[in-house]
Amino acid sequence: MSTTTPMSYEDAIAAFEPVIGLETHVELGTRTKMFCGCATVFGAEPNTQVCPVCLGLPGALPVANAAAIEATIRIGLALNCTIASWCRFARKNYFYPDMPKNFQTSQYDEPLCENGYVDVDVNGETVRVEIERVHLEEDTGKSLHVGGSTGRIQGAKESLVDYNRAGIPLVEIVTNPVAGAGSLAPEVARAYVTELREIIRGLNVSDVRMEQGSMRCDVNTSLNRPGQEWGTRTETKNVNSLRSVERAVTSEIQRQAALLDAGETILQETRHFHETTGDTSPGRSKETATDYRYFPEPDLTPMAPDAEWVSQLKAALPELPRVRRQRLQADWGISSHEMASVLNAGAVELIEDTIAAGASSDAARKWWLGELSRRANETGTELSELGIDARQVAQLQSLIDEGKLNDKLARQVIDGVLAGEGDPERVAKERGLEVVSDAGALTKAVDDAIAANPDVAEKIRGGAHNAAGVLIGAVMKTTKGQADAKTVRELILEKLS
Ligand code: ADP
Ligand code: ZN
Ligand code: MG
Repeated sequence: MSTTTPMSYEDAIAAFEPVIGLETHVELGTRTKMFCGCATVFGAEPNTQVCPVCLGLPGALPVANAAAIEATIRIGLALNCTIASWCRFARKNYFYPDMPKNFQTSQYDEPLCENGYVDVDVNGETVRVEIERVHLEEDTGKSLHVGGSTGRIQGAKESLVDYNRAGIPLVEIVTNPVAGAGSLAPEVARAYVTELREIIRGLNVSDVRMEQGSMRCDVNTSLNRPGQEWGTRTETKNVNSLRSVERAVTSEIQRQAALLDAGETILQETRHFHETTGDTSPGRSKETATDYRYFPEPDLTPMAPDAEWVSQLKAALPELPRVRRQRLQADWGISSHEMASVLNAGAVELIEDTIAAGASSDAARKWWLGELSRRANETGTELSELGIDARQVAQLQSLIDEGKLNDKLARQVIDGVLAGEGDPERVAKERGLEVVSDAGALTKAVDDAIAANPDVAEKIRGGAHNAAGVLIGAVMKTTKGQADAKTVRELILEKLS
């Protein structure tokens, strides 16, 4: 095995052009499995959601899940694909202990959806990622290797298998190779997976949680010298987060560049990504299609989605995330850069809801991206889990607009809301946090401030109105920030003129 040190990313990109391709599996959130009526609840006791069909017992016959077919077609439509008018399932034959039938029911040369695309925005540019195919298959079971220290098969005492996941509908989305992204290839890969996740989440057909495995990515990477043919690709598996998608491409570029530079060849193989080190190690060398001896599944009828129905599904698709983002950006009158901050903060819905509850878009953005983001960061919580909702933020802002709170008091009101003391209005009342603008109530504090600062008072009498700031500060202090600064200023100037 080669132990060549990876090349620096800059050097690798200067010498080679990367090509990437992504194969993404999405577990559908259907109530039952793909070819039987078994439940699909995540985390159930092992082997409690199984039956003769998904255990592959002799004589058991599959029946395709209509909801899964509909969900796959909707994914295909959202990815701008053509939907097949007729297609079949196929058997993909291989032996693995977590696959009880010794074949996976999948699709081969007749995918349900093909020839689509996803546009992603990277570094202010739009990159079109072409979709080769979207097909429907079933998930495998899960192996558990116990008795060792690592949970891997090496060193384990025994292996257990849980078939609860076997037969859960799985959609595979394969891109065409993406060339020409240059140094941005890792970011394009990440942006594509991010966009795909958003699109599918918006369709409500999967919870697309990478950390739970309901969305899984295989990342293909190859390098070629400029002007030459594409190189041999490797396929990196186990990429379980968006950040890992980006890191997997980066590390493969650096590893392959070093090998090619040393005159070695790249093996077409499966590699495993390691979260801790950010690099990959070799897995099995890749099977070719002939190894799988695909043939059409004889136990299932072909799928022939009615064109009328498909166009109804298309018409009923929700607004796509990218279109929605562009619409909101225009509505809110903000730059792409400001929109990126909103997205990074995960605040799109919160801001939208805050505006719907009556706040201006500037005010809504100010609270969620400023004070509230700061508090979420401090406590390591998601904005949406912070303990204040959009309606409460809108109420807080309207108290400010009505002159009942200033920014400083508003922050104390937030303390109360986060502590579970209720809505802003109630917190302000119970904590006694309203702005005092009643002249009568402020007169004593103003008199005290003048008495305590005779020299400043003298200056103001002499016409130096700027010096009033000192006295306003003093009044703020004695009223714990609750005085209305404008009223205080007026009172001071009135008394000292
Ligand atoms: P297989 O038949 O083994 O599944 P495919 O040709 O369908 O292989 O490609 C699988 C994935 O690899 C696709 O996402 C495709 O875009 C990508 N791919 C193909 N060729 C290359 C290459 N030279 N470099 C990077 N990715 C590639
Ligand atoms: Zn079953
Ligand atoms: Mg293929």
